Amino acid sequence: MTTDRPTTSSHETTTGTGEKAERTGSASAEHSHRTKRSESAGSSGRIRRSVSLGAAAREFLRHPSPWMIGAVLIVALVARVLVGDWQLTDALVPIVILAAFPVIEWVIHVTVLHWRPKHLGPITLDSELARKHRAHHTDPRDVPLIFIPPKSLLLTIVALVAIALLAFPRLGLGLTFLLTITVLGLLYEWTHYLIHTDYKPKHAAYRAIWRNHRHHHYKNEHYWFTVTTTGTADRLLGTAPDPATTPTSPTARNLHAH
Ligand SMILES: [Zn+2]
Ligand SMILES: [Zn+2]
Repeated sequence: MTTDRPTTSSHETTTGTGEKAERTGSASAEHSHRTKRSESAGSSGRIRRSVSLGAAAREFLRHPSPWMIGAVLIVALVARVLVGDWQLTDALVPIVILAAFPVIEWVIHVTVLHWRPKHLGPITLDSELARKHRAHHTDPRDVPLIFIPPKSLLLTIVALVAIALLAFPRLGLGLTFLLTITVLGLLYEWTHYLIHTDYKPKHAAYRAIWRNHRHHHYKNEHYWFTVTTTGTADRLLGTAPDPATTPTSPTARNLHAH
């Protein structure tokens, strides 16, 4: 999985996907493609060197959320195998969750993460998830802010375990549910993290996903809400406009600032 070849690509020339530096590409990428942060490069501004997939993965594992989700995944997997009792619904539940996942992602992103704080007299209705997501928009390159905040993640895990144990007609099916959600959760964290690194897309499928989320951050925060897929829930729910005719939003880095 580690592809350490130097990046020579500079395909990321579409408008709006990035910070100016994302487009300048790889003038000197042949050395030190592991370098994470930018170097200065004269009048053209900053050049960011590409990062390898292996280096990105090592940094990913230095943060708590992959371990928290991974631990639940392992426990759910072992428990699922031990319980046995495989039935047709153990295939149906993952298929339904998988099909619904882009919409789930979209709804959480729009309603929870982009929640506009409400003031009821002295009380402010806001959440850690919304606060940290606003901070993530302010500085998309701040690495800890890319991840689901640990406190909110812990609460989510407790809720999902409770659902797995209480809301299903049999334990095996609840564990199938928990296993599916944790696999998707880990994929979500990895994809979102990778999009915000300097790893340059090498394949069309990943490039499309990468561009979609870059547009959300650097072009217009009112569109492109899915993270792990593109052209799914955004198309279905009307938030996948043509980037070329979409205005660049002045509040993409400062949500709700108007
Ligand atoms: Zn992001
Ligand atoms: Zn957002």
